[in-house]
Amino acid sequence: MERSSTAGPVQIVSITDDHKFVLDEKKLKEILYHKRAQGKKISLVSIAGDFRKGKSFMLDFFLRYLRAKDHKEWMGKENEPLKGFDWRGGAGRHTTGMLMWSEPFLMSLPSGEEIAVLLMDTQGTFDSNSTVFENAFIFALTLLVSSVTVYNIMHNLQEDNLQHLSFFAEYGVLALDAYHTSPFQQLTFLVRDWQFEYETPYGFEGGEDILSDRLQIRANQHRDLELVRSRLRQCFRKVNCFLMPHPGLKVTNRRDFDGRLGDIEKDFKAQLNAFVPELFRSDNVNFVKEINGEFITSTQLFEYFRSYCAVFAS
Ligand code: GDP
Ligand code: MG
Repeated sequence: MERSSTAGPVQIVSITDDHKFVLDEKKLKEILYHKRAQGKKISLVSIAGDFRKGKSFMLDFFLRYLRAKDHKEWMGKENEPLKGFDWRGGAGRHTTGMLMWSEPFLMSLPSGEEIAVLLMDTQGTFDSNSTVFENAFIFALTLLVSSVTVYNIMHNLQEDNLQHLSFFAEYGVLALDAYHTSPFQQLTFLVRDWQFEYETPYGFEGGEDILSDRLQIRANQHRDLELVRSRLRQCFRKVNCFLMPHPGLKVTNRRDFDGRLGDIEKDFKAQLNAFVPELFRSDNVNFVKEINGEFITSTQLFEYFRSYCAVFAS
């Protein structure tokens, strides 16, 4: 796949110090009006969640997959530093907002039709400096514009993750003019550093066990929890979950770790090889973005971005 040397992450939504959000229409337009995407259906894959939990690190593997000519040998060389969306950063505050990769990638549907794939990184959810409003705005906008949203969480899928998600989804629904069943497409919980492999195996299979356990509506359960679960089922067409192992101590503890595969645990790489190709399967009906039951092009997505932001700003 062709790639230009200037490709990189572009901040399209930022949050000002007085908690206003700003959509950079000019920059967003440069991406969504890219000639490679023109007239094509699109897929927008996003990652959201708390900061410093390996989101951007994971996205850089998505980039490798999308750039690979051979989807069997996509992960790269053992000693190649991992680049793209900026991961690790300092211990301090990260830029809040949304970043989109500057260029769309092309993929083929099973029918042979080409679609444009866009990647988005988000930052700000639950970090101590963000307000509830900022979190809700970023997450809700992410759900609205994405076909696939990866909700990145640490250690386990817990009650508060479901409650937050349901709140964000509810907030997002407010931006829609008409009520549609399942307004959002795919939500994939990505559990990092899963520790109970001896009980529940890594991957989508283990994730399914955890998810069905957490989403189960039990007798004598609190009404609120029951409501959260049934609303999530109504809001999303597909919810799944993937359990990811810890990447190893070189990743988390070594200052000079540059993302090279040689320093990452074998288990992590094996699961990465299960997760990423599955997430980008073009025969997944939820992979291609639809709004109000219609496929949209990237230039139409640009208009939706504007109108959703206008709703949230009012
Ligand atoms: P983000 O703020 O969520 O985008 O996090 P980053 O991608 O910038 O990564 C933050 C730190 O977490 C980096 O030092 C990574 O090396 C490390 N990291 C990456 N993946 C994982 C993981 O699966 N588990 C843990 N514990 N750390 C990770
Ligand atoms: Mg990040």
